[in-house]
Amino acid sequence: MNDVILCDFDGTIVKIDTAEYVLEELAEGDWKTLDQRLDSGEISLEDCMGRQFGMVTASRKRIIDTLDSVVETRPGFSDLIEHCRSKRIPFIIASAGLDFYIRHFLARNGLKNEIDIVAPRVRVTRNGVKFEFPKLRYPSSVSFKDDLVRQHRSAGRTVVYIGDGTTDFNAARISDHPFAVAGSKLAGLLNENRIPHDEFTDFRTVVDTLKNLE
Ligand SMILES: [Mg+2]
Repeated sequence: MNDVILCDFDGTIVKIDTAEYVLEELAEGDWKTLDQRLDSGEISLEDCMGRQFGMVTASRKRIIDTLDSVVETRPGFSDLIEHCRSKRIPFIIASAGLDFYIRHFLARNGLKNEIDIVAPRVRVTRNGVKFEFPKLRYPSSVSFKDDLVRQHRSAGRTVVYIGDGTTDFNAARISDHPFAVAGSKLAGLLNENRIPHDEFTDFRTVVDTLKNLE
């Protein structure tokens, strides 16, 4: 029934926001003001992240080690992946975060070859971390996340979208079946806008709901 699952990473698959944690721990400068300018619509997400990570000069290894010491996977993630495997449902991570950390996380969990990632390409340079965001295919898209939902829907697929943040809202809103982390900003926005969705804290709840839809 469900042809593809698109899932956010930070705050959804793992409990913390890894990009924010790296900024908290390793940025040298006032990155928080840029978040306010992003929220007020003054600068784009791409611009914001590029400038914020320009303040991080730590090596890739130092970033990975810093995150490995604190990253915790949300319960039931392996059950969801097992469900996708048994039903042959593609599982794709859509993240505006650090793609190299997501790849490292998947490798550490033995999932490197079965999960696709759509994320900005991140390069760690002497002048900080640079982001290259995926190009949008639809003029109506706000970000690459809702663009991705449009791409799969226009190919005739049923799209399940799972996330937690404000940047997931447009993608979740136009998906066939949105799931939001309970108590998250995304859950709040979906409730405010009366968009039918399911909320969860453990991915096993998502698996049970998907099984009931079959
Ligand atoms: Mg998130």
